[in-house]
Amino acid sequence: VNKIGVLTSGGDSPGMNAAIRAVVRTGIYYGLEVFGIMRGYSGIIEDDMFQMSSRSVANIIQRGGTILKTARCKEFYNEEGRKKAFANLQKRGINGLVVIGGDGSFTGAYKLSKEFGIPCIGIPGTIDKDLYGTDFTLGFDTAANTAVQSIDKIRDTADSHDRLFIVEVMGRHAGYIALHSGIATGAEHILMPEVNTTIEEIISSLSEQEKRKKLVNLVIVAEGYMPDPSNPKIKGANEVARLLEERLKGLEIRVTILGHIQRGGPPSCIDRLIASRMGYHAVESLLEGRYNVMVGILNNNMHYTPLEIAIREKQKMGEDWLDIVKILAS
Ligand code: ATP
Repeated sequence: VNKIGVLTSGGDSPGMNAAIRAVVRTGIYYGLEVFGIMRGYSGIIEDDMFQMSSRSVANIIQRGGTILKTARCKEFYNEEGRKKAFANLQKRGINGLVVIGGDGSFTGAYKLSKEFGIPCIGIPGTIDKDLYGTDFTLGFDTAANTAVQSIDKIRDTADSHDRLFIVEVMGRHAGYIALHSGIATGAEHILMPEVNTTIEEIISSLSEQEKRKKLVNLVIVAEGYMPDPSNPKIKGANEVARLLEERLKGLEIRVTILGHIQRGGPPSCIDRLIASRMGYHAVESLLEGRYNVMVGILNNNMHYTPLEIAIREKQKMGEDWLDIVKILAS
């Protein structure tokens, strides 16, 4: 490997820039040529890439988003598209690829490596945290902290009125932002896609709390939570509010959807650190011939998960967390 490309793909997350910086500077330190590829896999197919220098990543470690931009590239799902991509990589002599993204992006990388023998390394970049083989993913800590700051403000108002406040946080398939921000703000309920909580259970716990004179009620809902999994169209905070209002006439409910503020902003210290560490080890891994793996951190050690496993498996939520939610909200 002497010429590598780096790209960001899927949803952006704070810390991607810090990872790009680490890949570029480590690559150049070891005498590699490093190419920045624009807009994920689209940039390979359209041959939109440029050679990077140490200076092209100056002053970006503290910035959210990604200077390489990101995209969802439909063409890459087809072998035809990937053939075109391979031809462009070959033309430029790029013989290693660092892909910063989520499991969809790793699936693309896995196919490219399997079909055309391009060595690929994945760096987990998603605010959802649900990737297998790593305790950290770029952007999760920042997103959870943004959610905590916002929910703290909402709690002040909730404390002044006897109302039910429902806050929706990001997480279409994963409840980690809901779980972490909910515990950190002392929420009464945390509703996540992974846990089957029914509306009946919420109602009975609300009336239980009323008996105990607990008046402030803060419910954190991940956007992908479904009150009734057999009806996947009904999900998120607005639906929870609608169902509760139908059942508990006269209850005043306020819904806040935090939305995209959770994706933006300067990465937290932790996200900058893990991005720097993973970016460095991604290049080391290519140089050591450890290909087609996702770089992760487990128990503070680097951990390399084959892409095909990283794609297939999901991180399991520790069961103690669910007890912690129940006991500490009482
Ligand atoms: P996020 O966590 O933000 O959803 P992701 O990496 O999982 O990130 P996706 O939109 O699933 O996001 O994938 C990003 C890109 O990776 C796709 O637009 C496509 O170019 C490529 N990709 C995803 N799945 C495949 C696949 N099965 N085959 C080939 N390429 C894929």
